[in-house]
Amino acid sequence: MKITVRGLTRRYADTAVLDQLDLDVEPGECVALVGRSGAGKSTLLHLLAGIDQAEAGSIAFDGLRIDTLDEAARTRFRRQHLGLVFQSWNLVPSLSALDNLRLPLELIGLRGDEARGRAQALLERLGLGDLAHRFADELSGGQQQRVAVARALVHAPSVLLADEPTGSLDADSAAAVMRLLIGACREAGASLVLVTHAAEVMGQADRLLRVEAGRLRPA
Ligand code: ADP
Repeated sequence: MKITVRGLTRRYADTAVLDQLDLDVEPGECVALVGRSGAGKSTLLHLLAGIDQAEAGSIAFDGLRIDTLDEAARTRFRRQHLGLVFQSWNLVPSLSALDNLRLPLELIGLRGDEARGRAQALLERLGLGDLAHRFADELSGGQQQRVAVARALVHAPSVLLADEPTGSLDADSAAAVMRLLIGACREAGASLVLVTHAAEVMGQADRLLRVEAGRLRPA
């Protein structure tokens, strides 16, 4: 999907964290956001995900304004079209990897054998088939993060939003996670916006943007 952001302004108390920010992301494009801590990168991702609301400005996906939808419609849109890899979005520890992937499918009305088959097939395609029946809290950090990325991809979203998806991972796990995310972009044509501090990750993006003084500029 094409993402079009215009004049986005988000204030906390008297401070505008984002100040009339504009952004265009093409379908299938991978954009990496960089910037110092506190610059507003996570704030921007949360606004794009429709989890937070701005004081001013517009956010459209293929022309559909999500900022003017009511909360129920925004939630439906998010479940259908967006894939999120956020630090706060942990796997459910008491469910297996497979069942963690079935949850987002259930939320869009896909149940039973169809959901199970799709979740299993994706885990296998991503080389995670052996982990399908392990409980999430029995997986290593790197394995959990790869399953979390699989969960974000299982409903074939058109837009992926990832907040430091390789943050706490060793080099091998980080590379595996990036292969999954970039693969979804290149193969399925999903648009990807990710926040990162890692040079290797930046190197794989089509475009690097710096969040600074509430706006974006080429980095
Ligand atoms: P980054 O992701 O670039 O590190 P954030 O988007 O998390 O930055 O935060 C940007 C600024 O907004 C910071 O100064 C932070 O303290 C402030 N901020 C973020 N969330 C809240 C909140 N819920 N209430 C008040 N201030 C917040």
